[in-house]
Amino acid sequence: MEIKTEEIRSLLLKQIKEFDVEIEVSDVGEVLEVGDGVARVSGLENVMSAELVELQNGVFGMALNLEEDNVGVVLFGDSRLVQEGDIVKRTGKVVEVGVGAEMLGRVVNPLGQAIDGKGEIKTKNSLPVERKALGVMQRQPVKEPLQTGLKAIDSMIPIGRGQRELIIGDRQTGKTAIALDTIINQKYTHKTDSPVYCIYAAIGQKASTVARVVAELESAGAMDYTTVVAANASDPAPMQYIAPYAGASMGEYYRDNGKHALVVYDDLSKQAVAYRQMSLILRRPPGREAYPGDVFYLHSRLLERASKLSDDLGGGSLTALPIIETQEGDVAAYIPTNVISITDGQIYLESNLFNSGQRPAVDVGISVSRVGGNAQINAMKKIVGMLKFDLAQYRELEAFAKFGSDLDQSTQDQLTKGRAMMELIRQDQFVPMPVEKQIAIIYIGTEGLLNELPLDKIREFEEGFLGYLEDNLKDVLDSIRDTGILNDNAKGKLSKATKDYSKIFAG
Ligand code: ATP
Ligand code: MG
Repeated sequence: MEIKTEEIRSLLLKQIKEFDVEIEVSDVGEVLEVGDGVARVSGLENVMSAELVELQNGVFGMALNLEEDNVGVVLFGDSRLVQEGDIVKRTGKVVEVGVGAEMLGRVVNPLGQAIDGKGEIKTKNSLPVERKALGVMQRQPVKEPLQTGLKAIDSMIPIGRGQRELIIGDRQTGKTAIALDTIINQKYTHKTDSPVYCIYAAIGQKASTVARVVAELESAGAMDYTTVVAANASDPAPMQYIAPYAGASMGEYYRDNGKHALVVYDDLSKQAVAYRQMSLILRRPPGREAYPGDVFYLHSRLLERASKLSDDLGGGSLTALPIIETQEGDVAAYIPTNVISITDGQIYLESNLFNSGQRPAVDVGISVSRVGGNAQINAMKKIVGMLKFDLAQYRELEAFAKFGSDLDQSTQDQLTKGRAMMELIRQDQFVPMPVEKQIAIIYIGTEGLLNELPLDKIREFEEGFLGYLEDNLKDVLDSIRDTGILNDNAKGKLSKATKDYSKIFAG
């Protein structure tokens, strides 16, 4: 049977018309059931994944589970305000967050709304919370250092701008402290032409803990270039779930404009728990440790967003310091192994070290940075081999020494030097050290110039010595900083200064 062109045309037109009508209907849905931060909604056939939807009573949500006959919507507001039969409207926009300079110095929720009582934030720009990571062609290897200001890290576990370095350890081992010191240390970059902007994403923490962090950053003068994104333990799970992505978008804004940013995710263990909770309510099948099967993707797509851009794209960077909390040092648990495999290295913090006063409690034997060495400044690179060697020897010999066996003189000397080096990499919180000073003190340590000192005097000596250098050898410190090189002239002057200051110190 033959159908005339005209007939086909009118048939198609009719279908298109009806199709239009259908879209209209599908822009509005109805809550089928609601519980614990999640609603199942019928009718939103054309909703996009991660689209913002509006419910009654001013509650917003994000469409997540797109199934054939219903949609899972995670709620950012109080789910007690939502009832079966409520109307749900599409907004046509994916969830976005405000980005840029207006966000600096502010504490916001993952939707970018102020929670610091300092008034509404009006940003010129905003970005979707979920964004695709860039491809290989758009990136280049890290080449500039991201200084933490911590001797133990900048020397042996150096981080480069654009790198992802995991901070991992049990509860109360100084994980947050390392991230905060790193943020505080970026203050010096704001005196250079390549400043690093910071984002601290607090996930699932107590509100009082976050308030303390903000106060500490404020008193260190670090809030001037920092934004805190917080979804606290008392906030709905979906907020905790998107908080790190919101932080990533804020950082990407700097990166994509040829600038540098650092984002801390504190911590991703709690984000995974929030995601598990959401997923169970959405009735996704639970897998290992009851996490849904795609929990790896939860963290990989987040951490892939950290990157050093190619020069064509402006050469900006986003460095990520994710934090993971372990239970009794078990790094082989599901979430820790996932995140270890996604990052470019790990800083392992150890309870025993922490409790014995060796802080930061970095286990330098197993901590690594796989790419940061390329960006490490030359002077540090040159001296760190000796430091690593001394510490490795020390770890080996220490086990022997415990048996109380007679040790020959050279072994005893090695132990003495190792102990001095352990002492040397100790550092208080909130006193990040410029890299030229780190180099000076580590240099004289590796030269064995501190071996004569009693262990408990080393830190006092260090402080006095660095002050002495500032007063008398400022030119040497400046030249190490500006050239990145420790030449023979500087070495000679440092050795002489050590002898001179030792006399003063012995008083
Ligand atoms: P949590 O698991 O509770 O998040 P955490 O691993 O993040 O803990 P922090 O909160 O950073 O640990 O540190 C625990 C305590 O140790 C804090 O009181 C902190 O001030 C202190 N602390 C951390 N690092 C140092 C340091 N280098 N020197 C002295 N005290 C420190
Ligand atoms: Mg912490």
